[in-house]
Amino acid sequence: MTRPFNFSAGPANLPEEVLQQAAAEMLDWHGSGMGVMEMSHRGKEFISIYENAEADFRSLMAVPNNFKILFMQGGGLAENAIVPLNLSRGASADFIVTGSWSDKSQKEARKYCDVQVAATNESSGHTSLPAAATWQLRREASYVHVCTNETIHGVEFHALPDLKALGSDAPLVIDFSSHVASRPVDWSRVGLAFGGAQKNLGPAGVTLVVVREDLLGHALPACPSAFNYKIVADSESMYNTPPTYAIYIAGLTFQWLKRQKEGELAGIAAMEQRNQTKAQRLYEAIDQSQFYVNKVDKECRSRMNVPFFLRDESRNEAFLAGAKMRGLLQLKGHKSVGGMRASIYNAMPMAGVEALIDYMQEFEQKLA
Ligand SMILES: *Cc1c(COP(=O)(O)O)cnc(C)c1O
Repeated sequence: MTRPFNFSAGPANLPEEVLQQAAAEMLDWHGSGMGVMEMSHRGKEFISIYENAEADFRSLMAVPNNFKILFMQGGGLAENAIVPLNLSRGASADFIVTGSWSDKSQKEARKYCDVQVAATNESSGHTSLPAAATWQLRREASYVHVCTNETIHGVEFHALPDLKALGSDAPLVIDFSSHVASRPVDWSRVGLAFGGAQKNLGPAGVTLVVVREDLLGHALPACPSAFNYKIVADSESMYNTPPTYAIYIAGLTFQWLKRQKEGELAGIAAMEQRNQTKAQRLYEAIDQSQFYVNKVDKECRSRMNVPFFLRDESRNEAFLAGAKMRGLLQLKGHKSVGGMRASIYNAMPMAGVEALIDYMQEFEQKLA
């Protein structure tokens, strides 16, 4: 039986090998007589799962030793509050607004500090990136927030901004929820990165935070202890019960990522190349057709989330129904944007992208 191709934006498809392994280990993990969900988070079995997950992510993403990797709860939306509670010192923070997610982030942060939108692409309908030279960064800002892949609008920073080159010493905070582990990260430009797992790493319920050590220990007094990065870091993410099963599945995904190869490339580099190829194929098919359109600037089109429209929107329902019959699931666009959206995360094979393109072309020809 072949599974359908699932284009959900999140929670999203997982590598089939990961699901198979989890199924095989569901009742008895490595002869322990327990399933992972049934284990104490302080027992040696789960500690080994946790330590391997942490070490695998560190090596996979080349996270330097002066960064802590935290496995937290609350998702990206909770981080919109947790970041200013920990980093703002109640002072000021600058935000680059490039779509729904960064807009949500700046609105939430206003509860905790003086927020300024330093640049926005709103006038383009969130289809471009504001040139870094135009960002109005404040010297005193305690951090600068960027959402490096806007999951809903399909806008991605293909390179991280270099704040130093822009004359700012503030740490860069990135929300990389929807493209974490799709490509390498230049950690020399980053102070803190956060992302929920449910787009590209595993199930919902675990949030990954990678934070430079010098940023720890400045939380506001009102910061909940379970969300205080220093407390979480000092207790190896075990201050409260961590989302154990979600960490286990993310760990299996990290191992799967490490095994990936494309020619000479391995791990994240292999993934990056595969993701580039997948996205390029899909955007080419859209651009070459008279029937479909993607409105995002070519320089900043997301390799993970591809929003597109049928020029004749009265065909939307028929398009989605036909896709479902073909085993192409969850292609409906986000309600705030409309149209379609194909999320093609790491776990989406090239065959899924080819099947979607074939279907799109057939649907177009049928109506021609
Ligand atoms: C999905 C998403 C979020 C929100 O994640 P939750 O787990 O629902 O809180 C935040 N930022 C980005 C970029 C996302 O894609």
